[in-house]
Amino acid sequence: MPNTEIEPEIEIVPCLSDNYAYLVKSGDACAVVDPSEAAPVKAALARKGWSLTHILNTHHHLDHCGGNLDLKRETGATIVGPGKDADRIPGIDVGVDEASGWEFDGRKVKVLEVPAHTRGAITFVIDGNAFTGDTLFLMGCGRLFEGDPQMMWTSLSKLMTLPDQTKIFCGHEYTQSNGRFALTLEPGNQALRKRMEDVEAARARQAPTVPATMGLEKQTNPFLRPDSAEIRKSLDMEGASTVAAFGEIRARKDKF
Ligand SMILES: [Zn+2]
Ligand SMILES: [Zn+2]
Repeated sequence: MPNTEIEPEIEIVPCLSDNYAYLVKSGDACAVVDPSEAAPVKAALARKGWSLTHILNTHHHLDHCGGNLDLKRETGATIVGPGKDADRIPGIDVGVDEASGWEFDGRKVKVLEVPAHTRGAITFVIDGNAFTGDTLFLMGCGRLFEGDPQMMWTSLSKLMTLPDQTKIFCGHEYTQSNGRFALTLEPGNQALRKRMEDVEAARARQAPTVPATMGLEKQTNPFLRPDSAEIRKSLDMEGASTVAAFGEIRARKDKF
């Protein structure tokens, strides 16, 4: 019987050069989120003594689903991904969306549709843990490959409705570079300065910066703060709309 009173155990699995996959263990079930490659995931499963039952994909980019077929062949795991992008997810078995949600070992999993990085991008929320792929990074957000600033702002606003204590597990270790960019826009943000000290220290010992809470993201992530007075002043866009300011932040980060 699943015991949903106990929080799922989450194991961070570094992949490729700066990707993260995550193992999520609940009872006899174990899911991997965004396996870019199979080998490090298999090694982590062996180390923990866990058997893979599910593969979850936030979007179709190969650095998030490149390990799907190999892991499925070896373990028989069920692949769950965005229903709207089913034709682009290798080996998909179950397509999900906001209306369907999903269930994992008796836990209700919230699926948020967050298009813009890709048009089918989703975030899985398992208990208080949000797996945001390349939509929300720590102190950053994904590039707008298949959407515009309005679409990404709408998607990030949806993520911001999650409780502040929600833990954000994102797809890449970009936090240090994101934070350095954030400081160019908001050098007077004390929470940001303090956080960057922690991030620099973690990276100096090559420790992951994930996860962080949504509350901390709201205080320090410039992509969630386009209406901050200091950011508006840095952009010289004090009278502009929220989406225009957001678009300018994204454009500046592209050149950073
Ligand atoms: Zn991507
Ligand atoms: Zn990626």
